[in-house]
Amino acid sequence: MEQPVVLQRIDVDHIRQDFPILTRTVNNKPLVYLDNGATTQKPKQVIDAIIEYYTQLNSNVHRGVHHLSQLATDAFEVTRRKLKPFIGAAREHEIILTKGTTESINLVAACYGRAFVGPGDEIVISAMEHHSNIVPWQMCCEERGATLKVIPINDAGELDMDAYRSLLGNRTKMVAVTYVSNALGTVNPVKEIIDLAHGVGAPVLLDAAQAIQHLPIDVQALDVDFLAFSGHKMYGPTGVGVLYGKEKWLEAMPPHQGGGEMIKEVTFEKTTYNELPFKYEAGTPNIEAAICLAPAIEYINAVGLDQIARHEQELLEYATLRLLEVPGLRMIGTAREKSSVLSFLLDGTHPYDVGVILDKLGIAVRTGHHCTQPLMDRFGIPGTVRASIAMYNTKADIDALVAGVERAAAMLL
Ligand code: PMP
Repeated sequence: MEQPVVLQRIDVDHIRQDFPILTRTVNNKPLVYLDNGATTQKPKQVIDAIIEYYTQLNSNVHRGVHHLSQLATDAFEVTRRKLKPFIGAAREHEIILTKGTTESINLVAACYGRAFVGPGDEIVISAMEHHSNIVPWQMCCEERGATLKVIPINDAGELDMDAYRSLLGNRTKMVAVTYVSNALGTVNPVKEIIDLAHGVGAPVLLDAAQAIQHLPIDVQALDVDFLAFSGHKMYGPTGVGVLYGKEKWLEAMPPHQGGGEMIKEVTFEKTTYNELPFKYEAGTPNIEAAICLAPAIEYINAVGLDQIARHEQELLEYATLRLLEVPGLRMIGTAREKSSVLSFLLDGTHPYDVGVILDKLGIAVRTGHHCTQPLMDRFGIPGTVRASIAMYNTKADIDALVAGVERAAAMLL
């Protein structure tokens, strides 16, 4: 077999030492963690920051005059400040801190929907969306009397761009697509998607839940209108996420939730709303998660997204070649542009059974429909086994996976 070109351009051994959980065993076997699409592990820099927060800073943000509250507020705003260059935003106040991708998309579907979608209008999504980028738009369409249009895909799991062009028109009020498919790994041609949508005057929301940790993203270069992602999939804590929105949309949309932080002045007659970004940040946020997202961003920056992408790409190619050597293994998602997801089926077996055997071997993968039931229907399958790669994975992890899948095939067939 052909050996992959130098894998260790980033110092993976060194990186692994920063992730304490990677040294533990599962079922008396060294942990092989390949469920990064679901959530990534956290480096000690993030874990230490969480301890530091609760031992030194804990206080509510944006309200108090006292010392701790100011420290917590400053730390909270550091995250927003770091996010700005990380995604290439023009303004800090275009960055709304939410609890995750799902909340970010729901916010846009609700608020944009209320302001800009009416009867007869159309929302375009794709056949490979996560439920989090389907259901909010279905709810929006139901409420507003609009219609959901779906861009079909080919058997490789690539968008049919001709079909996309023909779906666009003057009724299109939003195009909401995923940057990278969580179930197939397909990297979509997002710049072309955005330019075509803008050609008919429609804004674009990108679900970047599976892109932000793998690819450098520049919202201004893309000219994207909304971008949504989660902290926990980018080596940060759970309970924090991001909604980037162009100022013009965030100004024009009504607020999402009412309550503390999002008000300027409240009387029983009328409430005026706070300025951006606070207009969309009602209530006490997940303060420690927001603050501890900053070290995760710093960590990614220190390793470098280009380097991460190259490393993961090499592992993806190696894993694809090795897995395809397993008799009866069928890869689902064979797009030309792919990110670090390997979704597959073993003929004659159920994904769940393969997952259970891999778990006995200490290998963590995900099995099932991956919150993409319509996509699984498109392929006529109940689900897949999904291995998803992060910066700390190694060729040895892939070898363990392949050996585990071979073992599962021997046991189940
Ligand atoms: N979109 C995609 C593409 C995802 O992979 C996920 C997480 N599996 C989500 C949205 C939802 O993310 P969260 O649960 O963090 O809100």
